[in-house]
Amino acid sequence: MILELSQLSLVYQSAEGETEALRDVSFGVEEGEFVSLLGPSGCGKSSLLKLMAGLEKPTAGEILLDGEKIDGCGGKIGYMPQRDALFPWRSVWGNVSLAPELRGERNPESYARLHTLLSQYGLGEFENRSPAALSGGMRQRVALIRTLGASPRLLLLDEPFSALDAQTRLSVGEDIRRIIRAEGLTAVLVTHDIGESVALSDRIIVLTERPGRVLSVHDAGELRALSPHERRAHPLYAAVFDRIGKELHILA
Ligand code: ADP
Ligand code: MG
Repeated sequence: MILELSQLSLVYQSAEGETEALRDVSFGVEEGEFVSLLGPSGCGKSSLLKLMAGLEKPTAGEILLDGEKIDGCGGKIGYMPQRDALFPWRSVWGNVSLAPELRGERNPESYARLHTLLSQYGLGEFENRSPAALSGGMRQRVALIRTLGASPRLLLLDEPFSALDAQTRLSVGEDIRRIIRAEGLTAVLVTHDIGESVALSDRIIVLTERPGRVLSVHDAGELRALSPHERRAHPLYAAVFDRIGKELHILA
């Protein structure tokens, strides 16, 4: 088990009072697994991902990464926040090379790896472009490659497709999943889109309305070898989609 969450709770304190975001959340993520966290808007998904990234501290419970307590956003975790965080004044290369720069690793090996990733994933010719000159899907790929540049053990993605139109979402979803598989990464994806979670992940953890608790867990590991496109045509996709749809409908 690469990641273990046990009995996590999170209560935000602010001037207006307390907000209970998460209550008693427990689950694990296996090495190489792709897990989705699915739940209605405001149920605490981003909060849960921030806890995993070490950016928030739980009010109760603990998170272990490789058996050790998570402490701050260490180099083992690649975190892509909900809003596309590319710097508009830096080129594509300026953005992806930021992580090694900040870590003081301006060495040929880490730069070579980034150049390879960019050309492998169709961005080689765009290194000197500004992010504004790219499509939404390409910007997401740049953001992912920037995150991969740090060779994380665990990749955390917060609604990476939410700013894209429906058609682009599908193809970017394909790309992102292919990259994650090809790099042999373990990933946790946050989404409120049932189809996206079933098309992309091996296991889907459904959260309740706030305070977020684990409502159910759905296994789609049988579809693991298929692309998202092929998965959508598989009977298991429809079956899992329906089951989750009914659960979330009952909640609403
Ligand atoms: P989701 O990502 O599922 O939409 P969030 O995790 O962003 O949900 O938020 C869960 C709840 O916690 C919401 O009610 C939100 O307003 C509240 N919340 C999120 N961040 C903070 C914060 N920093 N301070 C106080 N309340 C917060
Ligand atoms: Mg969110």
